[in-house]
Amino acid sequence: MGSESKMVHSPMVTYASMLSLLALCPPFVILLWYTMVHADGSVLQTWDYLRQHGLQGFISIWPKPTLTAWKIIACYAAFEAALQLLLPGKRVEGPISPAGNKPVYKANGVLAYAVTMVTYVGLWWFGIFNPSIVYDHLGEIFSALIFGSLAFCVLLYIKGQIAPSSTDSGSTGNIIIDFYWGMELYPRIGKNFDIKVFTNCRFGMMSWAVLAVTYCIKQYETYGKVSDSMLVNTILMLVYVTKFFWWEAGYWNTMDIAHDRAGFYICWGCLVWVPSVYTSPGMYLVNHPVTLGVQLALYILVAGILCVYINYDCDRQRQEFRRTNGKCLVWGKAPSKIVASYTTTTGETKTSLLLTSGWWGLARHFHYVPEILGAFFWTLPALFNHFLPYFYVVFLTILLFDRAKRDDDRCKSKYGKYWKLYCDKVPYRIIPGIY
Ligand code: NDP
Repeated sequence: MGSESKMVHSPMVTYASMLSLLALCPPFVILLWYTMVHADGSVLQTWDYLRQHGLQGFISIWPKPTLTAWKIIACYAAFEAALQLLLPGKRVEGPISPAGNKPVYKANGVLAYAVTMVTYVGLWWFGIFNPSIVYDHLGEIFSALIFGSLAFCVLLYIKGQIAPSSTDSGSTGNIIIDFYWGMELYPRIGKNFDIKVFTNCRFGMMSWAVLAVTYCIKQYETYGKVSDSMLVNTILMLVYVTKFFWWEAGYWNTMDIAHDRAGFYICWGCLVWVPSVYTSPGMYLVNHPVTLGVQLALYILVAGILCVYINYDCDRQRQEFRRTNGKCLVWGKAPSKIVASYTTTTGETKTSLLLTSGWWGLARHFHYVPEILGAFFWTLPALFNHFLPYFYVVFLTILLFDRAKRDDDRCKSKYGKYWKLYCDKVPYRIIPGIY
């Protein structure tokens, strides 16, 4: 099993992506924050500053992780960990792992999300804690997250070496690959506290909603009102995150949880990249209260909600199809399918159903189209004065096109001729008729 990550990612790819992630992503996060908050969202302005002041100038804009930043992160992380552990939820079984395990989860994401949002807005409403403080210390918080998450990943590596939680773990024999792609598929603290659910869902995705609200409140506190552009952006991002938590148990069946191990790639990404890059269109809007007008605002809002809904419906359709073993209706008809058999790492032969109608008959990863368009629509309120707010959309497009290829390669090696049959029947990878 330890060889799976080796098979999917060659050492050269791992070294290159690790080096670039380590060398480029932390400074990028700081520069993104600096440009959005202090340089009017203008890449040119930041570029000019760096040209004039050089490396020393860059070092001087990199905020030190202050005690306030650590306190905010610690309170938030402890609160989310407590909700994950203590709130009630239905017992949900994850998919069978490559080593034949069936991880069990507690589905309390919606409740944790509701408690978090009500508590956060309540703290502000009753004057106990002002979210503007988070915005005012954002650079320090990102800086603390950059270093703190690196240390966290080292701990994950050590845990994977000395105390793995399940048989879905093991070394590839290469320390860099092990650190980068992870040692364990389902690391846990005790029996119940799932670390990936914490890093990906309860810390990462939850921070997206918390920061979206923070930006909205900061604009309100600064200008005495919230612009319609900020409202559209915040509502769409919240609709997306609400959808995520509504569907969280479905997320536990996806590549992030069921295939990618808990290493630097996924955990650092969720702990640092999600709170900074994913929330960045809202970060930009705080100081750019663009007025769209009711009509345009409503058009963007409706288009964005439609995209999030279609993306949700694609995921729902596939999961409902799998859950009912194909005995469901897809777009009002019996689904067309391929019965694909494969061999597990322990040599057992199993079968999976591949849906070839509905959204999954349009293209093999059609669900990425509404995902990307949704992100485009919540960025659109920033209009086109600057490129940087659109960075997330561009990044997401590259990520999902790469992911589609990665997933196709994995499915091809898993299902062999059955996957070829699917590709013959559904020839396009993402965009019907084009790609
Ligand atoms: P999924 O894991 O949900 O789907 C891919 C898996 O589904 C395949 O590995 C295969 O797994 C199975 N599968 C493939 N084709 C079929 C089919 N025709 N019928 C039935 N099962 C099939 O994909 P993702 O994890 O990429 O996406 C999940 C959601 O997360 C999407 O909404 C996506 O947009 C979103 N997402 C968002 C990101 C972001 O950063 N904003 C990043 C990545 C995803 P098996 O081995 O079980 O056959």
